[in-house]
Amino acid sequence: MSMIPPAGSATLEVRALSKTYTGRGEPVEAIRQLDFKISAGELVCIVGPSGAGKTTLLRCLAGLLTPSSGEIVLAGTTISGPPPGLAVVLQEYGRSLFPWLTVAENIELPLKEKRIPRSRRLELVAEALAAVSLAGEGEKYPWQLSGGMQQRVAIARAVAYEPQVLLMDEPFAAVDAQTRFELEDLVRSLWERLGVTVVFVTHDIDEAIYLGERVLVLSGRPTVIFEDVHVNLGAQRSQIETRSDAEFARLRTHVYELVQAAKHGARTVAEAHISH
Ligand code: ADP
Repeated sequence: MSMIPPAGSATLEVRALSKTYTGRGEPVEAIRQLDFKISAGELVCIVGPSGAGKTTLLRCLAGLLTPSSGEIVLAGTTISGPPPGLAVVLQEYGRSLFPWLTVAENIELPLKEKRIPRSRRLELVAEALAAVSLAGEGEKYPWQLSGGMQQRVAIARAVAYEPQVLLMDEPFAAVDAQTRFELEDLVRSLWERLGVTVVFVTHDIDEAIYLGERVLVLSGRPTVIFEDVHVNLGAQRSQIETRSDAEFARLRTHVYELVQAAKHGARTVAEAHISH
């Protein structure tokens, strides 16, 4: 299988990010003064209780939502709209793929928008399909594939785009457990091969620890970073060994306690009375 050339990666910095939804009714302060930095080539997971502002944060990172204040800096430039060099994979793969286009055409479409010449586009599509183990499926339509395969197509589309930053928002929430494990391993192996910066949002604590080099735990609303947890599980992870590792168990308990405390409104570790 030919390797996809390294896409390069970029540092992502969130500076004093706040987002309050205004509209009809009471304003909702979703995120307050959020600060963090993700280095180029890091794989960082973001967890937090439901309603903590994970989707709001991700939409801001993707340039789809304008912050109320603060800024997001990608590779040194403040973003003001969907930045080039950034690809997003969402939970709802069913809705993110065009049913009237084949799998290959779906992957190729953003490359056309990027004005990549046809011969290179075909190469990128073939490489991306191979990377997600879907070589030979390009002529099928998305609706002819299982949910897990459709999500692989969405990942292939993001990878073919050669992003510097890959944002994923609960991408595996709708697939069965076995497929989910396979897709998690796929994300780790693509991350290792491409060297891309990955931000992965999930409410699943085990998934966050299994995947991440760091796990940012969000507080309850208005959301701040509750704790930045470093995951020392090594580069080689395996669904069976890593998940039965004592360090995995320790991290899981710790992050679980944090998320529970966040659910009950704690916004600092001191407030939450959590041991390390
Ligand atoms: P999460 O993804 O962690 O579940 P969200 O980012 O979806 O959290 O939501 C954070 C908070 O912002 C919630 O209280 C939610 O009700 C509110 N919210 C999200 N979108 C809107 C919107 N368009 N208008 C008003 N409030 C919103």
